[in-house]
Amino acid sequence: MTANHRFHPTVLREYDIRGVIGKTLGPDDARAIGQGFGTLVVRAGGTRVAIGYDGRLSSPELEQACVEGLMSTGLEVIRIGLGPTPMLYFTVRHLELDAGVMITGSHNPPDYNGFKMMLGKGPVYGEQIQEIGRLVHGNDLATGAGSSRQLDVSEDYINRLAADYDGTRDLTIVWDAGNGAVGHVLRRLTDKLPGKHILLFEEVDGNFPNHHPDPTVPENLEDLIHAVHTHKADIGIGFDGDGDRIGAVDEHGDIIWGDQLLAIYAADVLKSHPGATIIADVKSSQTLYDDIARNGGKPLMWKTGHSLLKAKMAETGSPLAGEMSGHIFFADKYYGFDDAPYCGVRLAGLVSREGSLAKLKSVLPPVFNTPEVRFQVDEERKFKAVEEIVARAKALAGKGVEVNDIDGVRVKTEDGWWLLRASNTQDVLVARAEAFSEAGLERLKGSIRDQLSQSGIEAPEGF
Ligand SMILES: [Zn+2]
Repeated sequence: MTANHRFHPTVLREYDIRGVIGKTLGPDDARAIGQGFGTLVVRAGGTRVAIGYDGRLSSPELEQACVEGLMSTGLEVIRIGLGPTPMLYFTVRHLELDAGVMITGSHNPPDYNGFKMMLGKGPVYGEQIQEIGRLVHGNDLATGAGSSRQLDVSEDYINRLAADYDGTRDLTIVWDAGNGAVGHVLRRLTDKLPGKHILLFEEVDGNFPNHHPDPTVPENLEDLIHAVHTHKADIGIGFDGDGDRIGAVDEHGDIIWGDQLLAIYAADVLKSHPGATIIADVKSSQTLYDDIARNGGKPLMWKTGHSLLKAKMAETGSPLAGEMSGHIFFADKYYGFDDAPYCGVRLAGLVSREGSLAKLKSVLPPVFNTPEVRFQVDEERKFKAVEEIVARAKALAGKGVEVNDIDGVRVKTEDGWWLLRASNTQDVLVARAEAFSEAGLERLKGSIRDQLSQSGIEAPEGF
């Protein structure tokens, strides 16, 4: 086994482990991650771990090395092979295993790859990822005689997804796998659902020859929108590379953003969970929070980051959570992890019962907003600048102004709200504003410009 391994300093991140193949990440790192993470699992009393991988070209090689590392700690390793990230989460929950490792580069360019892990029922992030680094760097590793075996869980997974379809009327649905890992299960899943299903780019191909697998970027949805028009479909559903994020378009080909989708799901889930807490991230629209309250739910604003939302959800017993990025978590009838094919099944059922996706979206009042704008800042200044802005904003609070500093600073005024937050993973600040009128939006953008300039930072384009 690898001894005295050193990780590239950029690889162990806040929410996952990620790097560029051949530059910052390779099989030796994967083996060491298996040893370090396996040690965490063993010392937590675990004995069985599942491992899966996405469709990237480098994934099988990383998986093989990681299995060796996991086995060296004495664990029984269940290898589920190629599939989306939620199929790995499903395996851990369905078979009641102690942990899981997914080899995936998610939506990143083809030469990236990485690791998402779960321990028990929860995600591994933050301090636990740093702990893996310390165990490996300090050679403080468990050893034992492990074993491994292959197990095809895809049929159980697909049956579980299809079981929660509750539609009443047949729909025409376009599904765009974007050559990502969802393609491995999508045909068999849609074969089990009633209605007509058109599949785009279902062959898993780590070169992503058609469009990039990130459904939050409008240009990546062009093929889906086109196909919705061509087939006069009721819904278009897209996925990111590893299938933990969903994108959707309605029957007119209009994009339904992550927060709008969450509002639509929330209205439905609140019927069977009256008064429940529904969690969304700080980038989400005020119209989402207002709509949750209007439907009798308790809206809870939380930090951006899929691991953080998952953890908060478990803590509060919330049946549903989600974020702008398209990570949506159903604990209602399901396990509470971000499973985009499952979200697709639930959306299909909902639209089938309720009539139309455009109609479901139309209950949300129209707003004027900016997209999420990310702009580069000096890494040293990133968090400090946000602190300064929080302090200045708090000085104004009360005079029709509410300040939320749970993750960056989100300021609510009578015009709407604006947000500035520091990315945990990159040297960027994120800005967003949303208002009830065009003039209001200009005033909110002016506030962002003003706050940035007081902290010596140039406002990004569009502000
Ligand atoms: Zn993903």
